[in-house]
Amino acid sequence: MTKLRFYGGVNEIGGNKILLEDKGTKIFLDFGQSFTFGSDFFTSWLQPRGLNGLGDYFEFNLLPRLSGLYSKEMLASTNLAYAEPEIDCVFLSHAHFDHITHIQFLDPSIPVCMGVGTKLFMESMEETGYFADYGQHTCNKFRTGHKIKIGDLTVEPIAVDHSIPAAYGFIIHTSEGAVIYTGDLRRHGPRKDLTENFLERAKAEEPTALICEGTRMAVKETRQNYSEPQVREISDKIVKATDKAIFVMHASRDIDRFKSFYEVAKKNGRKMIITPKTAYLLTKLLDDEHLKVPDPLKDDCIRVYYKKKKSGTYDEKDYFAWERKFMDKLVGSEFVRKNQGKILMDLDFFQFGELIDMKPKAGSEFIHSMSEPFSEEDIEDQVMHNWLDHFKMKFHQVHASGHMGKDQLVEMVKEINPKRVFPVHTENQKLFKSFCPNIQTIEAEKAYVIG
Ligand SMILES: [Zn+2]
Repeated sequence: MTKLRFYGGVNEIGGNKILLEDKGTKIFLDFGQSFTFGSDFFTSWLQPRGLNGLGDYFEFNLLPRLSGLYSKEMLASTNLAYAEPEIDCVFLSHAHFDHITHIQFLDPSIPVCMGVGTKLFMESMEETGYFADYGQHTCNKFRTGHKIKIGDLTVEPIAVDHSIPAAYGFIIHTSEGAVIYTGDLRRHGPRKDLTENFLERAKAEEPTALICEGTRMAVKETRQNYSEPQVREISDKIVKATDKAIFVMHASRDIDRFKSFYEVAKKNGRKMIITPKTAYLLTKLLDDEHLKVPDPLKDDCIRVYYKKKKSGTYDEKDYFAWERKFMDKLVGSEFVRKNQGKILMDLDFFQFGELIDMKPKAGSEFIHSMSEPFSEEDIEDQVMHNWLDHFKMKFHQVHASGHMGKDQLVEMVKEINPKRVFPVHTENQKLFKSFCPNIQTIEAEKAYVIG
């Protein structure tokens, strides 16, 4: 008998935690944190106490109380007794926060399987981030073509296109036939060929179940969405038409987006200015020959922006050891101020203070290349616009989503044609039901027998 249980990603975008059980074998597909995780009880500086392990989380039922899953240390202050692992393996689809974060609570003897590139992203986060700590695990790395045997199951990871490299879907061969898990994916990105290959393979299995993401399953989409080539084209036009500074804001690990802006900068004879963190990530990703990223230490188009710290003089000692590696490529606010027409700069929200020293000329361009805010009362968005208005910068919204739109989702489900579809990572299960055949709407923690 094969069973599915959903401990996250139910009626919400993100936080996927899917338990698949077949005879005696149990695996989790993703183990992420939802975007609204704990927000009813914790806010700003009121956060779960680190010292209390899972105690503060269990208090508010924020994580499932499952035996044989968590580490001894994390359970120490709870009334759930530690038990030897009952989970055979956790498979991570990609390195986005909402798919991986909670592996930090797992028993270290439960192996975690992830793509080669996903491991690099996670290492980079741990080495340069202040908060990332995924814990100690036996990590098994995979690529497309691998077949991973876990007890009665065989798992085939297949790369798909998403807004982070090294994203995978899975074909899981169970005693009741194939179960397909999409992870997060899109059909309009630079590697849509990967997604098409995954869909072909999924369809050929005549699957018994499809666990399908539905981020953009919405009655009407109000947000602007472009394809990646369109993002490049529109940005190129903006850059061509000005002799002022260009600032871009995008998800730091969206390497496709980084490459788009890098190409636009290069084509227009501008220097691409990135943060030490992005430079560090790029050097890390050079280890994966499939990702083809420029080397920030060797590439003449790239400069690395250093904020002034302690001494105020860019003294090497002011910076973390990992940051120092790129000081040959150092530029600061003065460089930007004097070379406004010659730069294209990554500028994230928390770097806005630097604008005060960079003094962008009125009419400088600001390309917001990530999703639009979810609510009109978004405070960060309001503050961002206040800054842009203050410096008289021109705002552009230019973004390509990491997810399929509604029509493509419907088309995908029909193409794969599974016996049953379980919609996850969506706020709109009901809408799935009105467009797709064989939808099984899901409830959290309930067991669904398949086959
Ligand atoms: Zn994702």
